[in-house]
Amino acid sequence: MDKNIKKHNVYISEEEKTLNWDEIQTSFKKTFGNEIYNSWLQKISLIKEFNDYLILGVPTRFFRDWIVSRYLDKILEQVKSFKLSLNRIEFKIIEENKHNSEYIKIDQLNKVTEIKDSLLNYNRLNTNLNFDNFIEGKSNDIALSYSKKVCEHISRYNPLYICGGVGLGKTHLLNAIGLELQNENNVMYISAERFMYHFIKSIKKNDMVNFKDFFRKSSVFIIDDIQFISGKESLQEEFFHTFNSLMDKGSQIIISADRDPLKLDRVQERIKSRLAGGLVVSIDTPDVELKRKIIKKKIEEIQNQFKENINLNDEVINFIANESKTNIRELIGVLNRVVAFGRVHNKDLTINDCKNILKDIFNQIRVITVDKIQNVVSNYFNIGLSEMLSQRRSRPLARPRQVAMYLAKKLTTRSLPEIGRRFANRDHTTVIHAVKTITRLSEQDDEMKKNINQIKSILLEQ
Ligand code: ADP
Ligand code: MG
Repeated sequence: MDKNIKKHNVYISEEEKTLNWDEIQTSFKKTFGNEIYNSWLQKISLIKEFNDYLILGVPTRFFRDWIVSRYLDKILEQVKSFKLSLNRIEFKIIEENKHNSEYIKIDQLNKVTEIKDSLLNYNRLNTNLNFDNFIEGKSNDIALSYSKKVCEHISRYNPLYICGGVGLGKTHLLNAIGLELQNENNVMYISAERFMYHFIKSIKKNDMVNFKDFFRKSSVFIIDDIQFISGKESLQEEFFHTFNSLMDKGSQIIISADRDPLKLDRVQERIKSRLAGGLVVSIDTPDVELKRKIIKKKIEEIQNQFKENINLNDEVINFIANESKTNIRELIGVLNRVVAFGRVHNKDLTINDCKNILKDIFNQIRVITVDKIQNVVSNYFNIGLSEMLSQRRSRPLARPRQVAMYLAKKLTTRSLPEIGRRFANRDHTTVIHAVKTITRLSEQDDEMKKNINQIKSILLEQ
């Protein structure tokens, strides 16, 4: 008979030894230690044993998720040492939902199926973001040089942590490293946000074995925008374990963030210290010289790509470099607009043309922040900012406070809990209430409608 088929039969053959659960429990106690054993593993019972899998009983859904996300691979390994033919474990919740016997399948070990497929879709590196087209300047030369060194000596600088504000080239560098290393290594590139997405999905589908297996397999692990884990406890827990197991096996880890590791907000201390434990390099805002170089390089790229001639004289290039204040992404955006304008009007652009184009652009990308909203609103209603944020509930303070929360929700991308925190640590339900109240009032009450419109136009003008 075909060996494989035999291996996957689900009945227990005569010669197969049945498990002694007490013995296994004793080994759990040894492996996991008293604390984890008493709170978790002790409560797992053996319900049914098959040739290649077990059904274990657990008291609750939460219990199951906890076990699966933290201890499953170790449990499997442990039980496997008593019974080699085993390759998966299923859980049955025995107290909750007594009537509906719920079997949760844990896929076979080593079979990274769905996670892999969905991850492959975005684990692709962008070939346009490479070392060749990354322009060096005073603000990024150290980050660039260590990014290259990491490619020459894997694990020498571990982890490499690249920090800097938005649009300064972090993702570009991470990509370039990934591209450089991908031929000879198992490179995993993911944003912290996608990592989270897959983490949650795997917990829901009870697929943590595959999740862990997939990420821990990489020899180069690149994770972008790690600041995203802020405040997300279970994600941090998982990241911490992934990080440690990768470091243990000597994989290179490269991380980017919008700030210094020790300044990460609401991130466990132990994670911060691990992140800071390798080499931390930062990218600063570009000086005019770097901006000029980038503009010239981009023009060259556009010319090559579209086989067209773009004439921007030095004066215009200097002007764009000087006017674009914040970051390189914005600089490229501005340049594209200028080039498009020149194309449409089919002429060489003057400084005056540029001034007009830039005026529009800078008006559009004016950023409205929660701070700004709070200032404008408290000024508008003639109350002190600290009074507006205080816990006092009198109407003359509460209404402006609600207006400010409402505008923060409408005009910024901050989430409800984030907004709550900015208003002297209020709960997100308070923000929801404020949004509802002001939405209703601004529909029913002309005075409120007028106030909101005036405040909005002040915000947009500033
Ligand atoms: P971040 O991840 O730091 O927000 P990105 O890496 O996405 O920033 O960079 C924003 C844009 O600017 C990208 O198009 C990137 O290619 C470009 N860019 C940033 N720095 C440079 C550089 N030094 N040379 C060329 N292009 C750059
Ligand atoms: Mg980025």
